[in-house]
Parts: sequence; C-alpha cells; structure tokens
Amino acid sequence: MNVKARFLFLGTGGSMGVPLIGCSCPVCLSPSPFNKRLRSSALCTVGDKCFLIDCGPDFRSQALTHHIDRLDGVLFTHAHNDHTAGMEDLRIFNWRTDKALPCLLSIETADDIKRRYYYIFEPEGDEIYRKMLARFDLEYLVGDRGTLNFQGMPVGYFTYAQGGMRVNGFKLGNLAYVSDIRDYDESIFEELRGVDILVMSALRYSASHMHFSVDEAVAFSKKVGASHTWLMHVAHELDHDEANAYLPENIRMAYDGLELNFDINMSK
Ligand SMILES: [Zn+2]
Ligand SMILES: [Zn+2]
Repeated sequence: MNVKARFLFLGTGGSMGVPLIGCSCPVCLSPSPFNKRLRSSALCTVGDKCFLIDCGPDFRSQALTHHIDRLDGVLFTHAHNDHTAGMEDLRIFNWRTDKALPCLLSIETADDIKRRYYYIFEPEGDEIYRKMLARFDLEYLVGDRGTLNFQGMPVGYFTYAQGGMRVNGFKLGNLAYVSDIRDYDESIFEELRGVDILVMSALRYSASHMHFSVDEAVAFSKKVGASHTWLMHVAHELDHDEANAYLPENIRMAYDGLELNFDINMSK
C-alpha cells in the first residue's frame, strides 16, 4: 500500500548555521530568507505519524516555527553536536505522553550519545528529578545496512563515514537522506538504486575534511541517478541563488521550510 508522505526541511545549515556568528560576508548579511540556515534536520509525516531526523541545537525554534506538537520517533544519523544537541528539548514529548520516545540509531551512535548525555542515561538524584529528564527508547540498527520497521514505518538504512565516525543514511520510500557523508564504499550506490529524491549534504565549493564539496555532491548525485537532488548542510560560502545558477537543473539548493512529497510503501 503506497502512502503519500511529506518531507519538511527544518534546517539546511552546516554545523555552525548561517549566518555565522560575527560574520559580515555577503551571505551572512544577505536579507534573503533562503540564506538563513538553521542546523540540518527534517520532519517526515507518514500517514498520521511524525518522525524527526536528527535533533540539533536549533530544534526548539524549528519545533515552534512548524508547530511540532508530537513525535512518533526520531532517527539519528550520528552523534555530532549539530545533530543531537536539541535532545534535551524532546522531553516535553515524554511529559505529554508519559512514554519514552523511540529512537532509531546505530549502537556506535547510541554509545556516543550516552557519553554526551550520561546524566539522562544513568540518572542520579531523587525520583522527582529523574522523572523530569528526557527518556528515550533506543532501537538499534542491525549491521551496516538493511531494512526494518520503525514504529510502523519501513526504513532502509546504510552506513558511511565522516572523520572516522560512523554515519547512517536512511531510505524512506523513494526518498533517501544522506547527510554528513565523506568516506563511503562503492556499494552505497546499490543501496541508493531506484531512489527518486536524494537529499544530501554539500558544505561549500572548496574541499573539506568532513564533507562533500558541491562538485563532489553533484558527481555523487549523478551516479545515483535520482530525478531530483536537494543539497543541505550548507555553510555560508554558498549563496542560495548563485549556487542554484551553478548547479545542474535537477540538483537544487534546499532551504529551511521547503516541503517535498514522497511515496512510501507501508506493506514493505
Ligand atoms: Zn553535521
Ligand atoms: Zn559569513
């Protein structure tokens, strides 16, 4: 059964967001809303369920802007601060439902998150204090790739790396989310075969130790052969309109608040 689903870019910025604190470059000073980028994160609405992908330091304002009042689960790509620093703010959903929030992630990402937020996972203090903490129900990805059912949603997953850290990409129906990719095995293209909508990171024009450049993202996207590619996790070097003029027609700059429709087969 194919279900219509919606993908909303909550943030499309690199780890420091755009504008950069204290920067007076033309992009940071630009009045264009397309050049304002919160840290990268997305909301997927599938049927009557809502799933968050990553939860960075801008989650609170993203949730307020887009009226996120409930979540059925969170998918984490990896544990870096720009993808997890908003986790504390998820506790409002625990308070409302009196349930732990289901999270889908690798064991490596979970171990790292447990170090960063040791006081959530190994709570001290009295019972009333502990009840105020965020609560997560961690569901682990098995191996490097596969498909599983997460809270009623079929999720494909695959693995690549960034600066020696494991990162996961996700396939949701005909859409794939590939953030913070730097090092990968060629077999990733088998995982991405048949993807229509590719959402992927590209930091800037010049090379980076941690991210694809724009040209590297274009080459990757062409190899995937997706009909549409949207670039996110973008730093202040890229002006939205200039980058769009530079890019091939089917590869576009995403922006905060952009919504896409995609299809997901729920019986898989
Ligand atoms: Zn990142
Ligand atoms: Zn700047």
